[in-house]
Amino acid sequence: MKIREAIRTKILRSYLRWLGVCGLVFLGLLLLPKDFSRIVWIPTAILVISVAYAYFMSKVRCQTCEYQFPPAVMSSIRRNAKKSRINYCPHCGADLDQEVGANNSFKPNLLRGGSGR
Ligand SMILES: [Zn+2]
Repeated sequence: MKIREAIRTKILRSYLRWLGVCGLVFLGLLLLPKDFSRIVWIPTAILVISVAYAYFMSKVRCQTCEYQFPPAVMSSIRRNAKKSRINYCPHCGADLDQEVGANNSFKPNLLRGGSGR
């Protein structure tokens, strides 16, 4: 398995867990009494959902340097088009198309993605 595929799997897993939290929050809202205060609970639900999203996405890290990928980088890693996707970790420069745990170096890709700094 390539590092990119491992990261993709991680993103998918985090996303599914987050969806699970969303489901629980909505279920919780449904179970509240009918006269519940929407002004309090709806923003609370939104807050819980966004905190959960940030938490689960913070689990998606570079396998080599533990760098936490910003959302823009994550979507670039997931992209299938070779032209626009990121091929190296923007932090440590690890080749994302290398096999997980492999030490042999593949031929370097010419395109270098990155968000600047
Ligand atoms: Zn890295």
